[in-house]
Amino acid sequence: NVKGRYDKGWDVFDASLEEKLRLKNYVVSNFYRALEHHDIEIWYQPEIRTMTRQVIGFEALARWRSPEHGMIPPNFFIEVLESAHLIHKLDLYIIREACEDFRRVREHGQGWQEARISVNLSRLDFQLTDIFADIERIRQEYKVDCDRLRLEITESALSEDDSNLMEQVARFQAAGYEVWMDDFGSGYSSLNTLKEYDFDMIKLDMRFLRDFGKNRKAGIIIQSLVDMAKKIGMHTLAEGVETEEQYEFLKCIGCEACQGYLFGKPQPLAPAADSYAKKDSTLTFEPLDSSEYYQQVS
Ligand code: C2E
Ligand code: MG
Ligand code: MG
Ligand code: MG
Repeated sequence: NVKGRYDKGWDVFDASLEEKLRLKNYVVSNFYRALEHHDIEIWYQPEIRTMTRQVIGFEALARWRSPEHGMIPPNFFIEVLESAHLIHKLDLYIIREACEDFRRVREHGQGWQEARISVNLSRLDFQLTDIFADIERIRQEYKVDCDRLRLEITESALSEDDSNLMEQVARFQAAGYEVWMDDFGSGYSSLNTLKEYDFDMIKLDMRFLRDFGKNRKAGIIIQSLVDMAKKIGMHTLAEGVETEEQYEFLKCIGCEACQGYLFGKPQPLAPAADSYAKKDSTLTFEPLDSSEYYQQVS
């Protein structure tokens, strides 16, 4: 009996091939039922302004609690939904639920009105559907302003010569959405893609911080990325901040934002909204002005 196995941190990647295949089939054939029964929900993780430790927003992370299998690890079901070409259904469901959550909390008067939510988009969303039109429709239905939603696109999804994606990213930004690059440094195309897109924020992959304190080079690399981002007019957020030592370092080198277990783990709406209501928060960053750097260069 595998009921609840994943709740106890049982790692799906240790599972036998046969078991993985069974879970994969389960994900595909039970996906619509899971949406209908709200077995898939959002957990929210705070994103922090480094200087002040104020909350600048929350990342919406999908959680699937299956009656048969317990918590299914997100990385696993995301990958399966991508290969089954169902991922846009999940991502639009998450955006709809996030808009619902704005409304739910408004009704309870808990001050979530101003909160910014980052949602994750898959590269495939841009191919499988008219993602701009879909998101606009949901947003207007719930009367949520564009600047309340931040769209995260993972670096591994990007390439330098994808003019279609570039156009769509620019279209979202022109409409007032912030677009953030997720997991920067995890793929191969990182540096060149930065030439082609104007992201509002670069999220540095948590692997950069993992060796901090053990490997002298790790800190130098992070500092260089933060400096480079500033020079091209983009903000940086460090993912996976777990210790005060990492946090102090990020503060010293001027990394504007942080996210990680040190500040808060992903949690359901109610506790996330409660913790938010207690803190005063500043939600946006001033646009970076890169002109002073250009002057130095020329
Ligand atoms: P991500 O977008 O890079 O999200 C950050 C992941 O790091 C989350 O894993 C979060 O729980 C974890 N994390 C945050 N702080 C720390 C920390 O201090 N230490 C450690 N060790 N981990 C930390 P999660 O929730 O398992 O999600 C995994 C990935 O699945 C996400 O990575 C994202 O790429 C994807 N994902 C999650 N929800 C969605 C969704 O609704 N749509 C799409 N397309 N992808 C999603
Ligand atoms: Mg993300
Ligand atoms: Mg990430
Ligand atoms: Mg990711």
